[in-house]
Amino acid sequence: MQNKVSRIGVLTSGGDSPGMNAAIRAVVRTGIYHGLEVYGIMRGYQGMIEDDIIKMESRSVANIIQRGGTILKTARCKDFYKPEGRKIAYEVLKRHGIDGLVIIGGDGSFRGAVAFSQEFDIPCIGLAGTIDKDIHGTDFTIGFDTAVNTAVEAIDKIRDTADAHDRLFVVEVMGRDAGYIALYSGIATGAESILIPERKTDIEDVITSLQEKERRKKLVNIIVVAEGDGFGGAAEVARVVQEKLPHIETRVAILGHIQRGGAPSCQDRFIASRMGYHAVESLIEGRHNVFVGILNSKMSYIPLEKVGKKKGTISSEWMKIVKILAS
Ligand code: ADP
Repeated sequence: MQNKVSRIGVLTSGGDSPGMNAAIRAVVRTGIYHGLEVYGIMRGYQGMIEDDIIKMESRSVANIIQRGGTILKTARCKDFYKPEGRKIAYEVLKRHGIDGLVIIGGDGSFRGAVAFSQEFDIPCIGLAGTIDKDIHGTDFTIGFDTAVNTAVEAIDKIRDTADAHDRLFVVEVMGRDAGYIALYSGIATGAESILIPERKTDIEDVITSLQEKERRKKLVNIIVVAEGDGFGGAAEVARVVQEKLPHIETRVAILGHIQRGGAPSCQDRFIASRMGYHAVESLIEGRHNVFVGILNSKMSYIPLEKVGKKKGTISSEWMKIVKILAS
């Protein structure tokens, strides 16, 4: 147990994800409900170092639950990697009397929180805000559901035009280290192949499978590639396919940043609200330096230093399902 908190700061850091606003709202309102003062720290750790901090009231977070992005802005902050940068951040927080932090971000932001909490006596609670769903210890991360539904909607549209022309589309979705967006959106749109960072891409297998489909007159195919698939992304996959099967009309679509934006889905608003509430409860109860997740429908509290990437955990059964269902 550490000291009782009375003034807490909340920030969003690293890659943005839809639902971060819902989490900020939950933290602010739960904090105020408990009689705490709540401060919004702008642009993640950068705002902590530059003293870009604003007092939040219940009304400050009105009408944001449905908005994508983050009202606190987010940033990547080089200075926070250095002890000197973190020391300045600590002094800034001390000046404001902030004695607890809620950090909404990905695994990088959590690593920053670990470094900070090991050096200074300000407890940190993490909330997993990442579209990639690449954090151990939680079934959900804030933003994944919205991002994957955006990808599904886009791929459905691509399929319409692919169908009109009997074309092959290689669609690239986000996911540098984790293939969850590719896996879920690929299965949900009936993709022919799904290429992800967790598994070595076997391009010969992709080609053979396309040839086999062609023999059966299945001419409209979608290959979903995660940006970090290890083969070189959609452009490289399309180039090799075109080289080996020049008669197949092949197009590339890179979905890019549309996957980060837009109104958060009901699920993302729901989990962000629940996690935000429990983040403040955790600070009050003295459960410190953990991140709040949801595992098997129950809240989970995982020490921040245990956070790692989920790479390598996608079972081969999923790939079998993809093959069978796309036949
Ligand atoms: P994400 O949180 O989305 O994974 P990043 O990996 O860019 O995004 O991390 C966000 C920020 O967290 C970084 O810009 C940096 O300020 C801080 N950070 C990340 N890793 C560390 C670390 N090992 N030590 C200190 N700060 C870190």
